[in-house]
Amino acid sequence: MFATDLRITDCHCDTTWRMGKNDYDFSRRNSTGHLDLPRLLEGGVGLQFFAVCTAPLKERSCLHAALQQIGHYHRALALNSHHLHNLEHEEDLAAAEQKGKIGTLLALEGAEPLEGSLELLEIFYILGVRALSLTWNHRNHFADGVGEKLAAGGLTRAGRKLVQELSRKGIMLDLAHLAPRCFFEALELTERPPLVSHANARELCDHPRNLSDKQLKALAARGGVIGMSFCPYFITGEAEASLEQLIDHFIYVAALVGVEHLAFGSDFDGIEKTVTGIPDAAAYPALLEALCKRGFHSHEVELIARSNVERILRENLGKRAPP
Ligand SMILES: [Zn+2]
Repeated sequence: MFATDLRITDCHCDTTWRMGKNDYDFSRRNSTGHLDLPRLLEGGVGLQFFAVCTAPLKERSCLHAALQQIGHYHRALALNSHHLHNLEHEEDLAAAEQKGKIGTLLALEGAEPLEGSLELLEIFYILGVRALSLTWNHRNHFADGVGEKLAAGGLTRAGRKLVQELSRKGIMLDLAHLAPRCFFEALELTERPPLVSHANARELCDHPRNLSDKQLKALAARGGVIGMSFCPYFITGEAEASLEQLIDHFIYVAALVGVEHLAFGSDFDGIEKTVTGIPDAAAYPALLEALCKRGFHSHEVELIARSNVERILRENLGKRAPP
């Protein structure tokens, strides 16, 4: 039904923390975890975001942990250069496709590794970071995460500057994990279309990580895209979720704001439980099939699976202000 060149795009996985472990080899098929090179190839993935997430690790230094993970990422790239192409500039999108390689994009999940310093942002840019979320679930130098609950406020002054710097540098702003007030403030400040890399619809599942209708509409009004997460807790509020229940979220968001704002944000290797029938990155064909069965046309599936994210990536990676 789908051309093999569909090149599925996934906006979020946490696989880099696995890359340094003894029991994991990115180049081979692993019996643990959700994602490695063989499973990306089998699933038809053409563009994979790799997030570096350090806040939940409780390491002494988030900066140290981030640099370690970025080192592992670049090692995986070097060892698999015949299959992978790191996306740093707009033209890399076409280059990866022409060479038949999987485009990979390095992201920071939570700006904790900056340790409050905007100067470090340029260093992370040089290391290849092209997407960044301001915080994980808690308060940091820049913003409050959803975990702060009623105590959550707005962006700090440094947070406001960081959002503006991201637009200047051509690093995509990721609004996932942000407390609502920070979400709306960042959306107001950004000059490029933002991403919410992994979340679902609050109206269908009242989880604090999900987006309200108001948030979804505001995101769409700025030309942004939401990667729908495969985390069962964000889909049903429980440890289990069916493929049909995941598709319900796609249908809901498409009806509310339009299919041009939808994408995949698996959260593979960041979740413990998976959607029934979607155990890992090799399972995308089943997801595409299910979207079709529930009424999405093939051109709409292509938008969700690939083109929406490519559109905002082009708008983010292009034209950068001098450092
Ligand atoms: Zn996350």
